[in-house]
Amino acid sequence: MPDLCVTCLAHDATDGLCPGCRQDLPRNTTACYRCGLPLTLAAPAASLICGECIRQPPAFTRAFIPWCYQFPVDRMIGHYKYRGQRHFVRPLLADFGALVHQAIEQDPNPQPQLLIPAPMHRKRQRKRGFNQAADIAETLSLATGIPWSSELLRRTRATAAQSGLDRRQRLSNLKGIFEVTGEVPAHVALVDDVVTTGATARTLAALLRQHGAQTVEIWALARTPAQSTRSGQSFSDLAGDSQTGS
Ligand SMILES: [Zn+2]
Ligand SMILES: [Zn+2]
Repeated sequence: MPDLCVTCLAHDATDGLCPGCRQDLPRNTTACYRCGLPLTLAAPAASLICGECIRQPPAFTRAFIPWCYQFPVDRMIGHYKYRGQRHFVRPLLADFGALVHQAIEQDPNPQPQLLIPAPMHRKRQRKRGFNQAADIAETLSLATGIPWSSELLRRTRATAAQSGLDRRQRLSNLKGIFEVTGEVPAHVALVDDVVTTGATARTLAALLRQHGAQTVEIWALARTPAQSTRSGQSFSDLAGDSQTGS
């Protein structure tokens, strides 16, 4: 059944996007293999690694992040996250599920044994009503058959707002606020909505590695291009919630 496009209101949408708007989504095709940072190169190349990942290799091995955190993906995620309007992100969830499914079918390497959503402090979750990372993990679990769990990683306290901080400040802001509550499988994927500086991903991946994971992947909807870690702030201002991604 065709439905309404969430960005242009055309009537020929599939999973909430018309063919034109789907075609125009800012795909993150030329990106760092490791952290998913969008790179500006003439042509996509296999196994590109950004300067940051070379200087300070993160504890995760690769990132699967299909879109850049730019218009209209930033708006779609913002409406979802800060206003609870899930239909705005339905096209991204559907397409991400299909992309992950396809990538797994084509990849002869072993796949993650567990999907782990980036944890949200329970107070914040109560306020928002849901943890978007857990919602995304559940969607990807349905698409791939890989189980997910939000029990293994916990956020023990809320942090000061992350937006406006650079990665180094974010890293110290995040020190000691997460805990692992059980045995971590050897190969896992951390799931989040937006990777901004990568500080949360680095912190969580290092913690999972300390607790037995050998391979950690990062699966997220969108990655903020370099130099724009403040994008998305307008939504947080609207909702009085200043944590915009990680
Ligand atoms: Zn459209
Ligand atoms: Zn990188």
